[in-house]
Amino acid sequence: MEKILKGKPIASRIRKTIKELIVEHGLEPSMLLIQTGDDPASAYYVQNIISSGAKLGCKVELKNLPANLSAQDLKDVIAQANADPSIHGIMLQKPLPTQIPDAEAGTWIDPNKDIDSLNPTNLGKIILSMDSLLPCTPTAVLCTLRHYEIPVKGKHVLIIGRSSIVGKPLANMLLWKKPWADASVTVCHSRTENLNEMIQSADIVVAAIGVPNFVKADMIKKNAVLLDVGINEIINPDESQGYVGDIDYNSCFDKALAITPVPGGIGTVTTSLLFLNLLKASLAAKGTNKNIDDFLDLIFEEK
Ligand code: NAD
Repeated sequence: MEKILKGKPIASRIRKTIKELIVEHGLEPSMLLIQTGDDPASAYYVQNIISSGAKLGCKVELKNLPANLSAQDLKDVIAQANADPSIHGIMLQKPLPTQIPDAEAGTWIDPNKDIDSLNPTNLGKIILSMDSLLPCTPTAVLCTLRHYEIPVKGKHVLIIGRSSIVGKPLANMLLWKKPWADASVTVCHSRTENLNEMIQSADIVVAAIGVPNFVKADMIKKNAVLLDVGINEIINPDESQGYVGDIDYNSCFDKALAITPVPGGIGTVTTSLLFLNLLKASLAAKGTNKNIDDFLDLIFEEK
């Protein structure tokens, strides 16, 4: 097994399949990307999505809305996109302004166009192991495990973080009865007692907390696999800006069996999965319902 679990080869495999399927089915996938306000981190992600779309042959229409928009304004924009057959996917860039009820905004998106999996219908389907558009970051974790052929079945996977976009959906997906899941899952959070002892017992640790370098070598079991979802902006000693994960990469490297880097790990895979969802949605709009499993098999069974 490779020690450094880089995201780039996984993203390449996903993008290759997306491009092939677009040609095979004569698709013109099109998404509406809604940005509210001018948060600099959001602006970075938005540009990343636009350039990824251009490389894949997917149309990304950006709607930049003012930070002081009302909940009704946003609801109207989403309703218009829901009704527009030329738009196959809708992505609502977070964070939203405080006057917009975060969880409720996800319910405004048509579940069939919900390519970032914010709608409770899609999240509910995950609990029931039903086919749906999948949340990108948890799927990126599963794709990383699958690409690097890391055994998951029956293993103890411990997730630190219980957010609705990462920890909770990931826990449910890891429980799926699939050859590449079937794990025993523990979810920890900020109120967990004896967190260090719990992390010690895990074969695979997924950190999604947003605390720079939180997981140290003395917390993990020897030969644990470490998957770092965290992306934290830091200022280096030379005052340059940098990014680190929630896992202290340098301190954990020797003790771990394998570890994802930050940047260049899970985050690298996430955007390509947004476009996989868009592909699925645009194919469904043409009347062809392809199960997400079929897409993942296509991506990972081809060497
Ligand atoms: P969130 O703030 O919504 O949730 C954080 C979770 O961590 C909470 O459940 C909280 O209980 C837990 N937590 C916080 N401090 C803790 C502590 N000291 N001990 C134990 N648990 C603690 O965060 P989120 O949106 O899930 O994001 C988490 C991290 O993942 C952030 O760094 C974010 O930037 C990153 N992220 C990365 C991607 C990606 O594609 N790689 C996508 C989304 C989020």
